[in-house]
Amino acid sequence: MTDPPLPVIAIDGPAGAGKSTTAREVARRMGLCWVDTGAMYRAVTLWFLRHGIEPVSGEPVREALGGISVDLVPEGEALRVLLCGEDVTERIRQADVNRAVSRVARLPQVRDALVRWQRRLAARGGVVMEGRDIGTVVCPLAPVKVFLYAELTTRASRRALELAARGDVVDGESVRRDLAMRDTADSTRDIAPLVPAEDAVSLDTSNLTIEDQVEAVIRIARAKGYGPAGGASD
Ligand code: C5P
Repeated sequence: MTDPPLPVIAIDGPAGAGKSTTAREVARRMGLCWVDTGAMYRAVTLWFLRHGIEPVSGEPVREALGGISVDLVPEGEALRVLLCGEDVTERIRQADVNRAVSRVARLPQVRDALVRWQRRLAARGGVVMEGRDIGTVVCPLAPVKVFLYAELTTRASRRALELAARGDVVDGESVRRDLAMRDTADSTRDIAPLVPAEDAVSLDTSNLTIEDQVEAVIRIARAKGYGPAGGASD
């Protein structure tokens, strides 16, 4: 008897819509791996910043990508992000990376490389992968696709609370500006713009708790035949 297939659950949406917290908890409850693809773009961006590589298409970018490795290592509830072996989990959430990441993420060479890495991670199934283009480009055949969104004001105040809880000094207006800038850059770029996949279930999370969001995603997975243990339900 063959094992039931393991699902790929694609969760896309703009920053602050609740993707990471939802993806992490869905993965935990369903016994799947959580893959935060935004963290991968952030790690590559940090490498570019440190090495003074301008985010413009061309040979320096291609060469740089050949020398970078990004690994996501689960640690309890968290996901540690390793850039060429160095733990950069906290570092990639800082303002310089926030400001630069969308300019790096729109480069075709960067997207080609990261989409290749991400497809390798999804190849055997058993993942909850979150990002901007998972349901449209990285895993267009994913059986479960969810698009999470919320008003900019709601997302900005959630993000500000998260930062404050981490002990950062927060300027609400600059958080809002950063999200608005990334929303525009991510949704208007030529390659893999942020749009819901045609077959994604869209969820407005403005008035949902994280528990509501997690339950909704698990319900959608169940409706497609995937139970909480990770395999197809009977
Ligand atoms: O998810 P997070 O906000 O950490 O993502 C950071 C940035 O990485 C996004 O604003 C976007 O520019 C880029 N990104 C992307 N495609 C993905 C995930 C993230 O372009 N699949």
